[in-house]
Amino acid sequence: MKVSETISQLRAMRQALPGKVGLVPTMGYLHAGHMALVEAAREDCDSVVATIYVNPTQFGEGEDLGQYPRNLERDFAILESAGVDLVFVPSDALMYPPRYQTWVTVEQVTKGREGAQRPGHFRGVTTIVSKLFNLVQPDVVYFGQKDAQQVVVIRQLVRDLNFPLSIAVCPVVRESDGLALSSRNVYLEPEERRAATALHRALNAAADLYAQGERDPNRLRDAARHVVMSEPLAHADYVSLADAGTLDELSEPTERPMLLSLAAQIGKPRLLDNCLLPLELNTRDGATRTLGVVP
Ligand code: AMP
Repeated sequence: MKVSETISQLRAMRQALPGKVGLVPTMGYLHAGHMALVEAAREDCDSVVATIYVNPTQFGEGEDLGQYPRNLERDFAILESAGVDLVFVPSDALMYPPRYQTWVTVEQVTKGREGAQRPGHFRGVTTIVSKLFNLVQPDVVYFGQKDAQQVVVIRQLVRDLNFPLSIAVCPVVRESDGLALSSRNVYLEPEERRAATALHRALNAAADLYAQGERDPNRLRDAARHVVMSEPLAHADYVSLADAGTLDELSEPTERPMLLSLAAQIGKPRLLDNCLLPLELNTRDGATRTLGVVP
């Protein structure tokens, strides 16, 4: 496995990679959720590039940039054993040199949910992802459904700016009790760790109603909200039920695929989770087909 910390080296190493190239962008502190993306890339592509970069411009003031967990040595070992060919680990100075002044903004699907809670977050994401696409020039890029709004935003970016690549979306990888894996879970105290299952339980409550035929978005949303609100250690930021293609918040019943997504602060970390309704869509193919406006 090659590791590059400079742009010229990355470009040279990228040129030398054979065949179809898959890219897995990450912020490191890798877990099985990230590795599912790497495995999918390994299966589909001839060569796999991973990036590890804690992008400062997607963190707001007062967020956890300084405390974001890091362990590069461990990450390299994990990526190497998973058969990754090339890892790009840029510095802040390389990504945002002095007098840096170019930003990429997606205007509509960044509104609401994470976009409303974290102003500027998606501008940071779309800017760094555009840079990584230009640098690595992948054929396929792998994202997790865990960050479902991010998938929709990036799909829009790729469509609007004509990036010559396709997007693959892998389902949420969970602990055995349903908690979605996240690098930030290490900050949960034992009591909070138990409380954190409320997110998945909330999704299940709504999914059960949906399976019984309920299509009223207010009832589905309320069922999920009730579970989160019943957990004293969880402080919900939002519970959203939206059209999975457009992310328009739903007020009328629909048979179209829906995205139920929620975020809650539990102790130090802010946790996210989501599911597509119907639940059968929560597969790689289902999520890739359903989330966002497919070009
Ligand atoms: P991050 O390092 O948190 O920026 O995540 C890098 C990629 O891994 C993103 O595409 C995430 O959506 C994805 N990811 C993170 N956690 C999970 C998970 N539990 N299951 C599936 N994908 C995930």
